[in-house]
Amino acid sequence: MKIDLHTHSLFSDGTDRPSELVNKALSQGVTTLALTDHDTIAGWDEAREWLRPGLDLVLGSEISCQTEDGISVHMLGLLFDRENQPLQEMMAQTRDNRLGRMERIIARMNTAGIEITLEEVHAQLSDGATLGRPHLADALVAKGLAKSRDEVFSDWLANSSPFYVSHYSPTPEVAIRLIKDAGGVAVIAHPLASLRGRVVSRESMDSYIAAGLDGIEVKHRDQTLEQQQILFDIAAKADLAMTGSSDYHGTGKMNELAEFTTDPDQWEKLESRANARRVIRL
Ligand code: AMP
Ligand code: ZN
Ligand code: FE
Ligand code: FE
Repeated sequence: MKIDLHTHSLFSDGTDRPSELVNKALSQGVTTLALTDHDTIAGWDEAREWLRPGLDLVLGSEISCQTEDGISVHMLGLLFDRENQPLQEMMAQTRDNRLGRMERIIARMNTAGIEITLEEVHAQLSDGATLGRPHLADALVAKGLAKSRDEVFSDWLANSSPFYVSHYSPTPEVAIRLIKDAGGVAVIAHPLASLRGRVVSRESMDSYIAAGLDGIEVKHRDQTLEQQQILFDIAAKADLAMTGSSDYHGTGKMNELAEFTTDPDQWEKLESRANARRVIRL
């Protein structure tokens, strides 16, 4: 079994079509794949259309959240009912706000003498995809102003940089409730990935557990073994599922598909907490 519960397609800031992602998963022996684009389910239908026997497909989304004191948190929602309106409306609101936020980031860059336009950023975005900083990075690379997404993030776009602007996001507690009300399961993504910026406290984790958190992403390349051990202990104590995943973004990041995986018993535990069997298997 090879279970990867966190990947991105070009419906957010990944670079593979959902069809390619499904094909790669099948050819690499992945047995369970979750598609979790940022704040959208736009890639679900294509992934499902290209599914073939041998792969279980888990449809989900990585929901951008922000704590009251401004810390960015990513919440994976898996196996939720797509017809649930409050969850879809929340994601739509986040996507809308990402546009104004991008305009503000661009304005700050222009003021600092970095010549880039919203049109150039949009040229890097696939139709129907969630707009994010990686598309701005791609536009800067396309203009020859930077070498890679990674360089742009370290030089200009880090959460701590003066160019950084946040966008509307629900709190993690609200996102968990919306995911659960839609019958899905909530897994906090890379909670201790401290290289990205400030991370949540132990008290915050307790609050998410009280709100109904189902799982914790323990194994992820942005978390050290020490951080993974801390998360393992929290998950074990609260009887939550522990996941491991790649956070694959195609060529947008170094992450390889299924470089970290989830143990079958942990996946079984997580899946059983959804209110219906929604894994797609042909
Ligand atoms: P945003 O959603 O617009 O705030 O942008 C955050 C996204 O940028 C995350 O989903 C990451 O996957 C991506 N990201 C963050 N750091 C890097 C990096 N160094 N290289 C490539 N992508 C990154
Ligand atoms: Zn991303
Ligand atoms: Fe994330
Ligand atoms: Fe991700």
